[in-house]
Amino acid sequence: MIKINFVEPTTDDWNTWKETCNKKKEALLLLVERGEEWEIDNVYKAMKDVYYAKCCGKCIYCEKKIEKPYQSEIEHYRPKKRVTFRDDTPVKKNGAEHQGYYWLAYDWDNLLLSCQVCNKPNNDEENKLGKRNRFPVEDNYYATSPGEETNEKPLLINPTKEDPRDYIEYNPDNGYIDAIKNNNKGSISIEIFGLNIRDDLVDGRKEAYDKVNALFAKLPYVKGVGRQEVLDKLEEIKSGMHPHAIAAFAAIEEYKKDVLPVLG
Ligand SMILES: [Zn+2]
Repeated sequence: MIKINFVEPTTDDWNTWKETCNKKKEALLLLVERGEEWEIDNVYKAMKDVYYAKCCGKCIYCEKKIEKPYQSEIEHYRPKKRVTFRDDTPVKKNGAEHQGYYWLAYDWDNLLLSCQVCNKPNNDEENKLGKRNRFPVEDNYYATSPGEETNEKPLLINPTKEDPRDYIEYNPDNGYIDAIKNNNKGSISIEIFGLNIRDDLVDGRKEAYDKVNALFAKLPYVKGVGRQEVLDKLEEIKSGMHPHAIAAFAAIEEYKKDVLPVLG
């Protein structure tokens, strides 16, 4: 996970889609107010390509490359229709199950691009991989109506709202992700997305880390165009567009003192 600066698009398509979302949100709020049955429409496919591009084709949580947009998931950071605790048991208030953050179901700002493993349940019940409807918060204070969420303190990292590297860091010794000073938000995020029990992620991070080290090792021995190519590659990596950038950034940090002044 790294920070993703998701700037809202200004295209006509986006604005039209947002208008549709706003209308659906208004209609939904009215149904809830009247105590009538309500459903949430899947309006998300229409903008999947946009989210895919903004996230550089990576899962926002595990940073794994998602080959094609259709293989990705539009994930609700605050779950839209049901909410469960860290252990996936239902959140209840006054005996009734939390009905989800329905008022944020159509908010573009609550949507994130993820891979299927990070979003959905799977057969690994022992490790309970995937976010599902889980949304742990501090002190179990859960918002149940619009606006209350400003008082919530989520225990899952939201990479569009905060820098994950304030909570987690790459461990070059084993390719794992560690929670900085064992903070809860970092530990819970690592657990829910299975960041250290998925071998492909561990291998991918090691590869990203090694790649940066190889480029820095090459730098003193190349001149002219060759040197520029290495510098360009490093600049590209610094942009965070590649998978497992958290590991690449860690390698860059290690070189920062000695070599980065050269990069400018
Ligand atoms: Zn993922």
